[in-house]
Amino acid sequence: MSTSTGTYQESSDETTDGTIEPCNDQHRPNGDTFYMVSESSLLLLFVSCFYCGKSAVIKKVVFGSFLRIVQTCRHCRKKRVWDSQPYVCNIPLGNILMSAAILYSGAFPSKALHIFKILNVAAITRRTFFRHQSKYLQPAIDNVWKQNQKSLLMSLKKKGKPLVLAGDGRSDSPGHSAKYGSYSVLELNCNKIVDFKLVQSNEVASSNHMEKEGLIRVLEFLKKKGIKVGTLVTDRHQQIAKFIREQNPDIKHYFDIWHVVKGLRKKLKALAKTKDCELVGKWEQSITNHMYWCVASTPDCKGDVMVAKWLSLDNHIHNKHSGHGQLFRKCSHRRLVGRKRNKKWFKRHTKASEKLSPLLTNPRVCKDVAKLSPMYQTSSLEAFHSVVIHFAPKSTAFSYQGMHCRLQVAALHFNENANRKQAVTKRGEERYDIVFPKYKKGGYIVRKVVENPT
Ligand SMILES: [Zn+2]
Ligand SMILES: [Zn+2]
Repeated sequence: MSTSTGTYQESSDETTDGTIEPCNDQHRPNGDTFYMVSESSLLLLFVSCFYCGKSAVIKKVVFGSFLRIVQTCRHCRKKRVWDSQPYVCNIPLGNILMSAAILYSGAFPSKALHIFKILNVAAITRRTFFRHQSKYLQPAIDNVWKQNQKSLLMSLKKKGKPLVLAGDGRSDSPGHSAKYGSYSVLELNCNKIVDFKLVQSNEVASSNHMEKEGLIRVLEFLKKKGIKVGTLVTDRHQQIAKFIREQNPDIKHYFDIWHVVKGLRKKLKALAKTKDCELVGKWEQSITNHMYWCVASTPDCKGDVMVAKWLSLDNHIHNKHSGHGQLFRKCSHRRLVGRKRNKKWFKRHTKASEKLSPLLTNPRVCKDVAKLSPMYQTSSLEAFHSVVIHFAPKSTAFSYQGMHCRLQVAALHFNENANRKQAVTKRGEERYDIVFPKYKKGGYIVRKVVENPT
């Protein structure tokens, strides 16, 4: 684009590498503010000579969001050069900040830059963004993440206690064709992401193996740093259970109860839909509550006791409340006689009973119950994954480097905001709000409102 007064140059001009010789020494004042200024308003400032006040010729040079105006007087011939922004290492500050703001906010260059295009605001090109990303932003993020991770690991090491980790994998796309899988571990006492590893599916036998491979690499990394892992809580991942049992017998491995309950609930729901089994639906909540109770009532997390408690359920639902077995003889509740009940007992030799009992006493379910995590749950890790989704949605394909640095930004963001305090009103009262989560099916819970993230 050219105008009568000057020339317009695109920022993707390869010969300049997006850098420009500063016209004078400019340092960026901290927190410098940018404004949207229209060209017509701006050029009004340059129509007359700065020195003699007579008319001048204006030439414009544009690099992305940067504008240089060279004003030459027609009369005294004096020249004046004005730059719209300071620089960092010869890069116009606004340009590099534009790239940084896009990446650090989890936005996408094409969408973000499209906004500028629609507004007709001079901006960098996508090509410039990607150049900035690989040349400056990724090394910067990597540096900050490594520093933060180092100090986090040092503070954990100082405490001298083995780590209590929650671990979970995430694939970059649903199904089995995922290109990358990340495995993240969160230290449950401090609620911070300690490490994550990004595994490419072509590095392992199949994309199903990425999760285990990610965990192997995380454990190797922590071992190298001289950090001991005492406990690991994961979902019911059989490969990982086997790996920990055989290769890392020192680590106590537990299953996250939410995942186990989720699996059971699905089976109960399916059964409740079949003919003559409607009663199962009425019991679904009680059955899943019982699983939580088995864990909550067994603080020493003895697996065999939890299983005994779990198995007593099969008697209980058939209105038999004692004689369960050696480890857990009778139900802990009071006598139920005469109490108003909203659901019937199951009767042996009925279809519902014959279908439900094997489901509850299934050896695999018992094995899962024996490994249920006593006090630590992986829900914070789910929260981290939703932060990852913000920075790297599954619907978008990223390069390995792009994915890796977005995971680092997500981890930095999560750790920075992991333990936010409860927000208070102007009058100093703690804030709560009411939310209607999906799992409550229209029911509500009261939730603490926390401070805004930084
Ligand atoms: Zn002049
Ligand atoms: Zn009972």
